[in-house]
Amino acid sequence: MIEPIEGLEPQRARVVTAANPGVLTLAGTNTWVLSEPEADRCVVIDPGPDDSVHVDAVLAEVERTQSQVALILVTHRHADHTGAVDALHQRTGAPVRAQDPAWCRGTVPLVDREEIDVDGLQLQVIATPGHTEDSVSFFLPRDGALLTGDTILGEGSSLIAWPDGRLGDYLESLQRLRDVAAAGLSLTLLPGHGPLVLWGLDAIDTLVTHRVKRLEQVTTVLDGGAFSVSDVVNAVYGLPGPALHDVVVAQVQAQLEYLAATGNSRAADALAR
Ligand SMILES: [Zn+2]
Repeated sequence: MIEPIEGLEPQRARVVTAANPGVLTLAGTNTWVLSEPEADRCVVIDPGPDDSVHVDAVLAEVERTQSQVALILVTHRHADHTGAVDALHQRTGAPVRAQDPAWCRGTVPLVDREEIDVDGLQLQVIATPGHTEDSVSFFLPRDGALLTGDTILGEGSSLIAWPDGRLGDYLESLQRLRDVAAAGLSLTLLPGHGPLVLWGLDAIDTLVTHRVKRLEQVTTVLDGGAFSVSDVVNAVYGLPGPALHDVVVAQVQAQLEYLAATGNSRAADALAR
């Protein structure tokens, strides 16, 4: 068992944010460079989008600390996190590990609760499916930090990339992360997009409350006669702009699937239409 040491500001994690800002990516994808102070080797989490300028910036940060990349980790398969996997793998020679074998290079997939040690830098893998089926988070106990990928963002609520992601899985994953935070082991969240979150437990509770309220809203509009996915979209979210339309539809499909699994036949019918 890894012994945690509490602390507010992470001492072992530096962020390099890619120049891919957007509605879904916030300020851009966060690539995290992690190492023990003075260590010769470091770990990179999420290479980021396919952008050579970003890869250069990540390698410049690695060079600044006079270390070498020993291992590249991936939080999930989306292109804004994996687009630079091959470029970074080729330029560093470091193996790449992900939960999805398709994103592993030269080594084996990540396993839930596995402990990783690179020159004294300790990380624990926590499977957190829900945003996608292959999403993982990494617990950095000595900094009391959780690297959450897109499972928890620095601002706003994360998306369920249905049907790859599932809401039931997502709620269970939030509970897994909450258990770590509630034990006082992780107070800081280092997300895949957006700023660092200092009050991790509060943030997780806010996300859970938001999801539960949304499910109550969906249940209410189904009881009120909403008949289809688009009825629910209009009643709960209003008319989303074109950039968000498909994302909102996927959220509603995920909510309907979740409610259907709990025995709500109106949700099952609406999802099937
Ligand atoms: Zn992302």
